[in-house]
Amino acid sequence: MASTGIPKTQTVALVRDLGGTVEFKTDYPVPMPGTNEVLAKVLYTGVCQSDLHTKAGTAAGPDGTPITKIKLPHVGGHEGIGEIVALGPDITHSHGLKVGGLVGIRFSSRICRRCEFCLAGTEQYCIKSTNHLHHEDGSFQQYIALDADYLTVLPNDVDPKVMGPVLCAGLTAYKAVLNTNIRPGNWLVVVGAGGGLGHLAVQYAKAQGALVIGVDTGPGKRDFVLGIGAQEFIDFATEDPIQKVHAITGLGAHAAVVTAGNAKAFAHACEMLRVGGTLSCVGIPPGNPCLETPICTIVIKGLRITGNLVGSLKECMEAVDLVRRGVVKPVIKVRPFKDLPQVYEEMEKGDIAGRIVLQVAE
Ligand SMILES: [Zn+2]
Ligand SMILES: [Zn+2]
Repeated sequence: MASTGIPKTQTVALVRDLGGTVEFKTDYPVPMPGTNEVLAKVLYTGVCQSDLHTKAGTAAGPDGTPITKIKLPHVGGHEGIGEIVALGPDITHSHGLKVGGLVGIRFSSRICRRCEFCLAGTEQYCIKSTNHLHHEDGSFQQYIALDADYLTVLPNDVDPKVMGPVLCAGLTAYKAVLNTNIRPGNWLVVVGAGGGLGHLAVQYAKAQGALVIGVDTGPGKRDFVLGIGAQEFIDFATEDPIQKVHAITGLGAHAAVVTAGNAKAFAHACEMLRVGGTLSCVGIPPGNPCLETPICTIVIKGLRITGNLVGSLKECMEAVDLVRRGVVKPVIKVRPFKDLPQVYEEMEKGDIAGRIVLQVAE
């Protein structure tokens, strides 16, 4: 292993107990890259809503109850961009991995490659998978060991500052749009269009040829959402979004991507849809509420309802490529790593447009 200049200890943002505060620890060990691993130096990392949920102890599993099996102390971060600084002892030339190469630190960390979901290209659901949110330390640290076989290898000509949020928010938004089966010229509503996930959903929908209606609130969000290419903006605080969507589209929207964390927004989105429309669920409202749409509405209107958890590595690379080519432009604000506690506070208040990226490497 080539390890010149790699320190033995590092600074990490640590959460000792769920529901507790995040503190910076400066003498946390730098991991050694083991068999089939590489060591990456973290350059930048996005901050995702699910980092906040995990820290707070409010992250929900598929049955809606809080996930309790979380590695403690917890080091969050799953929208990281790193640079390979060392290769594990068995990594040879044939792996095609080089010191200096850019890599992504995503939600999924390791997969089995053999289960039904891995074989189907939906490996984010792998029954033996681990992730950088509940099982392994994530990108809120200076150095990270990553699985060489499931490595997110990035092209070296991408801007590492903007790419972090693409790996979770971007991928989730891209997959949510793909799940709607939208076609060029179709109307797609993004509820929460001015947020970190929403502003990427607007742009990925546009990249698929959709006509986009952004729903959010305030003049700042209006300018922002129209500025990234939405055809229409509806302010839910001053207008009736359901009525307005029908006025714009005639029969209703073909699809709605809901990134809001409010259960009512999902039921309202169903009312915005035309016959045969698709509701693509992204946000996870707190408190485990159910979708309030009457079953008869779903049946008679022939609605489709889809959900998804991030996406596959292949879909991630597609989402990355659209950003690399300038088709989708993540709106980010770079702040120092030490700002993480304040960023969490601002996220709790919900007053962040676009996405925050922390600069981890000095
Ligand atoms: Zn995330
Ligand atoms: Zn698997």
